[in-house]
Amino acid sequence: MEKQNLDTLADRVADLIVKAKRVVVFTGAGVSTESGVPDFRSPGGIWERFNPDDFTYQKFIKNQKTRQLWWQLFQERGATEIRPNPAHYAIAELDRLGKLDSVITQNIDNLHQKAGVPDEKVFELHGSINWTVCLKCGQRYTLEQVKARLDKGEEIPACEACGGILKPSVVFFGELLPEGVFDKASHRSRSADLFIVIGSSLVVYPAADIPAHALSSGAKLVIINLSPTPMDYQATVLVRAKAGEAMSEVIERVRSKIS
Ligand code: NAD
Repeated sequence: MEKQNLDTLADRVADLIVKAKRVVVFTGAGVSTESGVPDFRSPGGIWERFNPDDFTYQKFIKNQKTRQLWWQLFQERGATEIRPNPAHYAIAELDRLGKLDSVITQNIDNLHQKAGVPDEKVFELHGSINWTVCLKCGQRYTLEQVKARLDKGEEIPACEACGGILKPSVVFFGELLPEGVFDKASHRSRSADLFIVIGSSLVVYPAADIPAHALSSGAKLVIINLSPTPMDYQATVLVRAKAGEAMSEVIERVRSKIS
């Protein structure tokens, strides 16, 4: 996006933030691509290398080969050295400036918390890569514990306590969302007066219903995304730019407008 155009749009977003009482940020995989985590649908995204049909809960349970593929993806995605980027830091700064109600994220990468947003303000619709659970006895393992085993060459780690199937605490296709999180996220979005979507194609349901809840309760909508979404026509401000770039511009203006 042309710098001048981005300046103008960032200024409008900053004005909306300054005036708003309850800002809810909704993020998807696109907020993390600048941290080196590929999204699903962009060129070079995960679905160019893996078949989404292989990643259902039912196949994971039944099929060793699917579990092996999952753990391969997990090992790539769970890299503990992945760091937040300027978009995550800008969102965390909104919180420090007293302007953030909550973050509703489809991401499982824990980068909002790493950037400094308090845990209780982050609603992870699709779970988190931070924990792995035994489906038989419920024993929980940290990301670091599982990573260490994969790094040593285990292809399909099993529960050390009972030998049961281990599954990352992330939502697979065909699986329900973690209990209560959708309702809480929906409640937060209905209470928002400004709802900012960052880096989501808004096509994965039921998560993609959440922005509509905010709109129907009267919130203004901002969308910051590189490609078109089905809700673009409803946005008060639409920013077709990289999340890190756009949010850096936005937060700089918010800072100067409220100081
Ligand atoms: P998606 O892949 O469907 O869409 C990502 C969107 O972000 C695209 O529209 C793309 O144009 C845009 N985008 C990519 N890079 C961007 C950037 N730098 N700045 C602004 N926009 C950018 O992702 P989604 O909407 O989150 O939904 C798909 C599912 O992907 C979710 O369920 C999520 O759990 C999962 N996912 C999560 C991660 C993660 O945790 N980081 C990564 C990949 C997929």
